[in-house]
Amino acid sequence: MLKAWQVGHIRYHLKSGRSQRWIAHHARVARGTVFAIARREHKAERQLRAQTAALAALELPDLNQPPRRCPTCRALVYMPCLACSILRSEGLTRLLAAQKKRKR
Ligand SMILES: [Zn+2]
Repeated sequence: MLKAWQVGHIRYHLKSGRSQRWIAHHARVARGTVFAIARREHKAERQLRAQTAALAALELPDLNQPPRRCPTCRALVYMPCLACSILRSEGLTRLLAAQKKRKR
């Protein structure tokens, strides 16, 4: 089992552009280990970008208007209803489903 500092070391070299083979040799770990860390990094970056894009696409509630009854969920909210916007947002729905699946 790698120690946290070793993983940090590998991440540092991955970000600095070293080859996975070079990192594996110098960190004295298997190339598969470096590949797995690199893949996780790429996946985390991709997820963060998708999350940011999905959040940027959300329409934020107008707090200058009085709260109104949301026609979809019937809650008293500042329109547009943020909860319903999130549920309608395809990107966020997919991300939440993926996170739920990972937790199991
Ligand atoms: Zn609603």
